[in-house]
Amino acid sequence: MSKPAAVIAIDLPAGLLEDLRRSVTPIVTGPDPAAVDAALPRAEGILCSALLPIDEARLARAPNLKVIANFGVGYNNVDLGAATARGIAVCNTPGVLSGAVADLTMALILAIARRLFENAAYARGGGWSRREPPPPLGWDPAGKTLGIVGFGRIGQAVALRARAFGMEVLYHDLVTAPVDGLEDCRPVPLDELLELADVVSLHVNLDPSTHHLIGAAELARMKPTAWLINTSRGPVVDQAALREALASRAIAGAALDVLDPEPPAADEPLLAMENVIVLPHIGSATVETRAAMRDLAVRNLVAVLTGRTPPACVNPAVLQARP
Ligand code: NAD
Repeated sequence: MSKPAAVIAIDLPAGLLEDLRRSVTPIVTGPDPAAVDAALPRAEGILCSALLPIDEARLARAPNLKVIANFGVGYNNVDLGAATARGIAVCNTPGVLSGAVADLTMALILAIARRLFENAAYARGGGWSRREPPPPLGWDPAGKTLGIVGFGRIGQAVALRARAFGMEVLYHDLVTAPVDGLEDCRPVPLDELLELADVVSLHVNLDPSTHHLIGAAELARMKPTAWLINTSRGPVVDQAALREALASRAIAGAALDVLDPEPPAADEPLLAMENVIVLPHIGSATVETRAAMRDLAVRNLVAVLTGRTPPACVNPAVLQARP
């Protein structure tokens, strides 16, 4: 029997590609959108990252598609409603990247608190050697308040780390049931969190309810000394309102791993602002985590294409409805 055909729209290491060939025939390997589009009419599965929008137009080109295996936990690049209506399973990679994103978030909190980037620039730029006045003193995270918006897998992993540094943790989520082991983290309304937090960290998934969740009104509620960290998705923040709040020092600063759009225009003002740290979407970018994500994405793809239950599917009803 011939093996199901799949578009592999991310680069996979040779060993993993060989494993995959045992059950699937890759008809494209690599992220070139033109090659992907040309292969879609034959594809029964696609393995892709957030860089490839899977919209109605692409789905219409892929009448044989059974599974979209996304390389990432966020799947806002996929039109979930359209895929579900066509009976296509949408899979993602939850959990395996939570630690890496939480580590990056904690690294940013510590970097902000200890003015790491300013002090490194001062030393590298010769200010220290020239005995120029150093950057101002930093602050201790212990005793400060962290407000976590979106208390899911990553938000909770951030809470564990922040608590170990002595921070008080508030959170806002649609779900407010106490979380085992994190009973001392307090659920509060978003407005209260914004008013009380010294650092606000965003960990919601991007959907219509979280698009521009943080806009001018929300930024105005934050303390002028507070920082905003976004490692979720760029459009969760109204970027024009953020630029304005940062330029007027309505808030102290922002650390952004994600922007809207990505990559940013070369003249994006946030890239040049002194009170902004921009990272190029590296939340999950460690060797170990990326390997675990590839492995899970491949397992999801192969499982659906061989009639088994995938480890992580966001619309499982589609699988139950299959004959
Ligand atoms: P998750 O589903 O476990 O957590 C998301 C939480 O947000 C849930 O608890 C949900 O109830 C809450 N939420 C949803 N809508 C809300 C709303 N309107 N108001 C308040 N809370 C709301 O997901 P996760 O695994 O923790 O990942 C979170 C997001 O992080 C992903 O969707 C992805 O976009 C982003 N992410 C970014 C990177 C990166 O490289 N920067 C890496 C991985 C994940």
